[in-house]
Amino acid sequence: MAQGDVHSIRAFTTELRRKKPRQSVIDEFRVTELPGHKPLGTFEIRKSRENKSKNTRIAPDLCICEDCLRELLNPRDRRYFYPFINCTNCGPRYTIVRDVPYDRKFTTMRGFAMCESCAAEYEDPLDRRFHAQPNACFTCGPRIELYSAARQLILRGADGEKSRELIEKCAGLLRSGHILAVKGIGGFHLACDARNQETVSRLRSLKYREQRPFALMVKDVRQARMIVRVGAAEKKRLLAEDRPIVVLRKKHKKTVAPSVSPDNGFLGIMLPYAPLHFLLFTFIDFPLVMTSGNLSDEPIAHTNQDAFTRLGKLCDYFLVGNRDIHIRCDDTVTRVRQGKEYILRRSRGIVPNPVLLNENFHTPILALGAEQKNTICLAKHNKAFLSHHIGDLKNAETYASFLQAVRHLGEILDIRPQAVAHDLHPQYLSTQAALQPPETLGLPPELPRIGVQHHHAHVAACMAEHNLRGPVIGVALDGTGYGSDGTVWGGEVLTADLTGFTRSASIMPFALPGADKVISQPWRTALSLLYRVYGDAAASYAARLWPELDEKALAVVLFQLEGAKAKIMTSSCGRLFDAVSALAGVCGEANYEGQPAVELEQAIEKDSLSGYTLDISRTAEYYELDWRELVAMVTADRLRGKSRADMAVRFHRGLVTALTGLCILVSEQSGIRRVVLSGGCFMNMYLLSGLTGALRKKGMEVYTHHRVPCNDGGIALGQAVIANQRVKEK
Ligand code: ZN
Ligand code: ZN
Ligand code: FE
Repeated sequence: MAQGDVHSIRAFTTELRRKKPRQSVIDEFRVTELPGHKPLGTFEIRKSRENKSKNTRIAPDLCICEDCLRELLNPRDRRYFYPFINCTNCGPRYTIVRDVPYDRKFTTMRGFAMCESCAAEYEDPLDRRFHAQPNACFTCGPRIELYSAARQLILRGADGEKSRELIEKCAGLLRSGHILAVKGIGGFHLACDARNQETVSRLRSLKYREQRPFALMVKDVRQARMIVRVGAAEKKRLLAEDRPIVVLRKKHKKTVAPSVSPDNGFLGIMLPYAPLHFLLFTFIDFPLVMTSGNLSDEPIAHTNQDAFTRLGKLCDYFLVGNRDIHIRCDDTVTRVRQGKEYILRRSRGIVPNPVLLNENFHTPILALGAEQKNTICLAKHNKAFLSHHIGDLKNAETYASFLQAVRHLGEILDIRPQAVAHDLHPQYLSTQAALQPPETLGLPPELPRIGVQHHHAHVAACMAEHNLRGPVIGVALDGTGYGSDGTVWGGEVLTADLTGFTRSASIMPFALPGADKVISQPWRTALSLLYRVYGDAAASYAARLWPELDEKALAVVLFQLEGAKAKIMTSSCGRLFDAVSALAGVCGEANYEGQPAVELEQAIEKDSLSGYTLDISRTAEYYELDWRELVAMVTADRLRGKSRADMAVRFHRGLVTALTGLCILVSEQSGIRRVVLSGGCFMNMYLLSGLTGALRKKGMEVYTHHRVPCNDGGIALGQAVIANQRVKEK
């Protein structure tokens, strides 16, 4: 209650909002006038009445604050070199929460009783650690330990001196070419000296991660600038308290080992965020590889036991602590272009912050996402809680952590879903979890299950991010998604709102020879396109394009293509990229999905040549993007010895022109001028900015993803808003 004249009251309420504690969130701000109250003499803070409903506000994990960092490095402070230092402004949150309310006894700190000094800080309203749930010190809190790969204890950080000795030892091990499994905030990293080619390639072969770039952790922005180009917006993102991995362009000077990111012009860089990282960098001044602690497709190891079992063969030493991580949470990955952010993986440091919508959800909804890059979404009121990155559900352990996330998030967010949204793909484990035995999800079987088409969900995710209701023209380009007709879609222009969609245009379908092999061998898809264009002559073209390929392998694929046997047909834009990449001689074999497209984009040098031709034709139901002329043109260019850079830019340009043409046609027909771009192909910045620019030039209103991933990591959000609309209309 405040008394005074109107002006000072107004000033007071403004100040309250402006000067609120850093991590506090104001849910609602209401000012009520109480006329005729008797004058108040004193100023006091009264104890708030016990809140009956669960306090479900849980913060994301935040990087160490400046005050804690100062104490950490001050030899006279009682937390000198204490790797678990934190306060109300910083430290772990989401990853240590076991239950709500957010209270020490419901976190993984429950086994540590605060010592007198810590308790005094915790009780003092004027202290920075007032009600800091994970508050701890050497006397009462968790410790770090160094183990050999064979799990022999080497050192224990019992106090400041010992902790310093232990960390200095780790720095020495890293310097001398060892690989350390380091326990962080959301899981384990595998760390090594990024300059050491021998160690980095050893780690690469141990992880079975032959080509995908490793993320780096650098001491500071100055060190980052020795390796990559860092603009002002990128610097700001690197330093933000969620400390994401920022994808940045490599400098030509070779400052890190080539095998950190072979055949890739970009590097993912992050700054230290856990106190332990800062401590390591007090002894070393070189960049570290900090890749997630897992074998290629497994989830990141997050418990000590898990790390000891799974990472034993991948590292030489373990740097662990006994503060448990309850929920694993991978690093967030993001990118900045022209001052705007384009997030690739929305995870540690951001989750569980909700995506806020202008409208309320009709009923609480659980959306189960897709299969790869899986995330789930729980939605209630005007908040859509998109989960941390869960990963590829085909991995059994990832699937288990998916089921755990469904239950855990429901509990800590206090959301009891009344409808379950899922993909249409019958083979996705997320779909099966929704449809098969009701107890899988721990939800009543009578809750409505709502199937949402994959590309509709992509478009809706982008609409939700921008609070659009529709109708829009949705351009959804990705690798695969189950179409409403049972074929594999992936290059779609939809006319959509949140209720439904019509397929207005699509890429002319082509056959996929060999189910999973088409990902690792993009030449297979290329051969399929050649066969469609040249018929029997495709064999001789293939032999000239890929002389290194085994003739027999080619013959087998051609035989498949000729056969009358039912083939998988697709309109996938991702596979079209694969095929062109193989035709242009950029990438014939891939180590990970999307690699051919990544390399094709990076092959572009200058943006000058004219694009290849993609014709637009009309089927009975929709427009079709005809790639036959394009295939002939790129094949001719390749055989004429044109550079990869030329072919790459001509393909991208041609695609942008054709997609723009399609959108204009659809717009003229429907009168819709809003275009939404979504799907994993838009991780390609040339395609994204090229198409955005071309559409805007034609007077279209264009929306793209910024804070929600355009890839399948955003699908769950789209499913949730569509399901909400369907429930409402029932
Ligand atoms: Zn702090
Ligand atoms: Zn203590
Ligand atoms: Fe997708």
